[in-house]
Amino acid sequence: MIKENFIKIRSEIPANVELVVVTKTRTVAQIEEAISAGATIIGENYVKEADEKYACLGKKVQWHLIGHLQKNKIKDAVRIFDMMESLDSLDLAAAINKECRKVQKIMPVLIEINCAAEWQKAGILPEDFNAFMQEALKLKTIKPMGVMTMGPLLKNPEDLRPYFEKTRQIFEKAKKIFALDDWKFLSMGMSDSYKVAIEEGANMVRIGSAIFGKRD
Ligand SMILES: *Cc1c(COP(=O)(O)O)cnc(C)c1O
Repeated sequence: MIKENFIKIRSEIPANVELVVVTKTRTVAQIEEAISAGATIIGENYVKEADEKYACLGKKVQWHLIGHLQKNKIKDAVRIFDMMESLDSLDLAAAINKECRKVQKIMPVLIEINCAAEWQKAGILPEDFNAFMQEALKLKTIKPMGVMTMGPLLKNPEDLRPYFEKTRQIFEKAKKIFALDDWKFLSMGMSDSYKVAIEEGANMVRIGSAIFGKRD
């Protein structure tokens, strides 16, 4: 079913929307099946788990980090990932920048927005976003390319619409203020919410369970 699910979702979403296949808890065999159906971007939450799969799958897909990065995992993360979607603090930005400088790699990053200002969630608060960007842009070996958000955990995806809209406004405003050539990704929407997210302007969605089935 993995193959069919991937093909169906890929055909339903617009061609300009990047589909990040979220593979936390999934096996290499399951991921291979998604790849054979056309998956090109894999999203992983944990560095150690990603590394085990990366050892098998390597560079035939792109690797996106979508979970909070711990400081002691930065070296491995910089080695594995092609993009970090979950940049959530200046501290971390500086540490990633330092490691990238060491290995001479420029890391594309998305800034994670805590769009509902939830105390338990990682991410930059909307009101702190501009100040965050001003500092982050001083770091020359990371490359901010857009924003990512999770949004609050709500039963009805329709209720996420205002949060997606708010995130898009931050994304669009930043495009004007900072005028970056490579500012282009708005990553929002998961299995339950990607349709609403795309309607609200997402051009990158992160989908796991709608492809692989429920996680245990
Ligand atoms: C797990 C996860 C997803 C995918 O969730 P599904 O509901 O399985 O599609 C997307 N984004 C992030 C940040 C995640 O942690």
